[in-house]
Amino acid sequence: MNGQIRYGAATDIGKVRELNEDSLVHEPPLFAVADGMGGHSAGDVASRMAVEALSRQVIDNSDALSAAVKQANREIHDRSKAESDLGGMGTTITALVATDGSAQIAHVGDSRAYLLRDGELERLTQDHTVVGRLVQQGRISEEDAEHHPQRSYLERALGVDADVDIDINVLDTRPGDRLMLCSDGLYTMISEDEIAQVLDAEDDPQQAAQRLCDMAVAAGGLDNVTAMVIDYPGERTPLRPTTGDQPRSKLPKRLLAVAITLALLLTALALARASLDRNYYVGARDGEVVIFKGIPGSFAGIDLSRPEEQTGVSTRTLPAPERSRLEEGIEADDLGDAHKIVANLKRVASPAASPSPSPGAVP
Ligand code: MG
Repeated sequence: MNGQIRYGAATDIGKVRELNEDSLVHEPPLFAVADGMGGHSAGDVASRMAVEALSRQVIDNSDALSAAVKQANREIHDRSKAESDLGGMGTTITALVATDGSAQIAHVGDSRAYLLRDGELERLTQDHTVVGRLVQQGRISEEDAEHHPQRSYLERALGVDADVDIDINVLDTRPGDRLMLCSDGLYTMISEDEIAQVLDAEDDPQQAAQRLCDMAVAAGGLDNVTAMVIDYPGERTPLRPTTGDQPRSKLPKRLLAVAITLALLLTALALARASLDRNYYVGARDGEVVIFKGIPGSFAGIDLSRPEEQTGVSTRTLPAPERSRLEEGIEADDLGDAHKIVANLKRVASPAASPSPSPGAVP
């Protein structure tokens, strides 16, 4: 049956990011989209490791799929612990194995799988985000979620912990089913109505994937975007016309643009704020090693961090490579991790000059 499956895939860096941290694999029966997270270049390493780990395995049932995803999680986690510049990396994964008459889907994070069947688009995965959980619990609506400042805050990702919970979904497929996997760079830029229309209108899966990607970039391309379309053989039912009011499309375009810009600004502010409250790093200040809360650097002249703990370790006692790492700031998973980093620094500090400041220093 796999020979009859048609598929297409497209990915784009978008207009804002410096790197495409999305990775994808289409090696029937395996299809997967991974969206890397983490500072510097670690996100693309994590997402690539995830899809490579999957493609190494022979996967023909949901148990094998689940085991392969757990294996990918372990590999990413181990490497992030072993290599300091990859610390804290992680990735989403939404993987689909197309077997005869069914599709096994494994999912962690906020990439998504959709199904177009009987003229309707259905989402098959739940976002493992704070906001996704609130929607599931019925505490906020889908509409509110779309504009929620913390919508992309992941609660689950591959590589973050030694073990991971995976959502497994086994779908009995029907002839003419069209599945679509995507990263959040798609559905945050264009609506599900637009996605449904493209999936309905473009018969060729490659052209459908490409057009989805192009539309997300044209709509702003604020994130990397990846779309993959997988067609089961058979006749597809045309999209049902949407009935009822669509108040959002009645808003004047300019007003909508202003609203979106505002929402994005608020999102950025909220994310920055949340990020500051959750992150730690070890850096240097006035010649001393200091644990900071927040992230290194400043924005519009405002420091993005504040000192949390002084350590009494003089940077002069440290070898040059450590000093230059401190200049940039050494990221920590949490306060405990920051303490470990400081303990390691103490270990390499030169005892002659330690622990008090140099004699010439003014108290
Ligand atoms: Mg993304």
